[in-house]
Amino acid sequence: MSLSQIARAIKASPTLALNEKAAILREKGDPVIHLGGGEPKSRAPMDALLAAVNSLNTGEVRYTPADGIPELKKAIIRYTEEFYHRKVNPENVIASGGAKQSIMVAMQAILNPQEEIIFPAPYWVSYPDMAKLCGAIGVAALPEDGTFYPRLKDIEQRVGSYTRAVIINSPNNPSGAMYSEEFISDIVDFCDKKDLYLIMDDIYHRLVFDGKKPISAYDYTKKSVENSKIIIVNGVSKQYAMTGFRIGWAVGNKKVIEAMSNIQGHQTSGPSVLLQKAAAGALNGIQSTVESLRVTLENNRNVLVGLLRSFSGVKVHVPDGTFYCFADFSVYEKDSQKLSSFLIDKVMVLTVPGKEFGLDGYLRISYCGTIKEIAEGIERMKWALDPNSPNELYIGDRKLVRDWS
Ligand code: PMP
Repeated sequence: MSLSQIARAIKASPTLALNEKAAILREKGDPVIHLGGGEPKSRAPMDALLAAVNSLNTGEVRYTPADGIPELKKAIIRYTEEFYHRKVNPENVIASGGAKQSIMVAMQAILNPQEEIIFPAPYWVSYPDMAKLCGAIGVAALPEDGTFYPRLKDIEQRVGSYTRAVIINSPNNPSGAMYSEEFISDIVDFCDKKDLYLIMDDIYHRLVFDGKKPISAYDYTKKSVENSKIIIVNGVSKQYAMTGFRIGWAVGNKKVIEAMSNIQGHQTSGPSVLLQKAAAGALNGIQSTVESLRVTLENNRNVLVGLLRSFSGVKVHVPDGTFYCFADFSVYEKDSQKLSSFLIDKVMVLTVPGKEFGLDGYLRISYCGTIKEIAEGIERMKWALDPNSPNELYIGDRKLVRDWS
């Protein structure tokens, strides 16, 4: 069978594949602990649910404009004013099927084949493949100082005549690192001077800890939204625990948003009206659910970091936000895919190999589940990896016996 070059270049999303693996094992009755997940477990806000139900009750569920319904755009405009301190117009906004689609159509709108988009490593798994879907090339920039906090020179070094854009995700999936205001200011200025697009993937921006506050890239440019090449991406998936609703958005200059809307119009048309109504409901409704999720995640982070610190040899970088911790397990195994497979096979704990995010030797551990899951997952991992562990471990009435050293 002959497939296109692009089809042959694209891998299955490793995180989605792991979710499937966990689901299959659970169906078999295996007591899997999923520390690989990328979604909060809280309920979607009542305002979102009611808005969707009210819309459904009308019985009129129709196509929407390709770039989203006016009601949702209005809510996004208000959000942009509150968190990004800019007044934008409906033509500066597109609502998509998740932040993922906003990023995808943004890349399709700005990248030609062979052109490059740079992102700090470790990076979200989808960026390299999204670039490939445009026939373009994703260029990872691993901070040279060994931290998860890039400096401008880490990016600058990789800029060449093919570079068209930079994408920044802060706080970052998988490291949880929130980049400094100084770095954001530097990168805004740099992209401005080099005439590069700057995509800010802000999907986790309100899920930050230790008193940190969301950062707006627009605060660091004097240019108007119309003259700026900044594209802000955000959505309801993470902060409102609405991953399955599939609504995200982008804000940018009219020209780029129009191009993105044209592409989206042919790709999928506008997102489902029910889900757009739900997203508008979440954005317009009571906001306390976001803060309560944030507080829960901060507490979970503290518990997980404490447990990992008692894990000899594992190096932990304390996450500033998100619900991921990216820990260095290379003392046990340098090949993170091998280590992740070992943990699922032996103790049914699911983690995501660092290699998928551009950094081998690490595992991404999610703390969006319950404290009980986190504690039990780490306990099982310790048992599996510590050669001094007792020979047996009980999970409920199931006995695991070490047959490895
Ligand atoms: N960016 C990052 C960094 C993410 O982690 C995710 C989801 N895992 C997305 C974008 C996409 O989010 P959405 O569900 O809105 O498509």
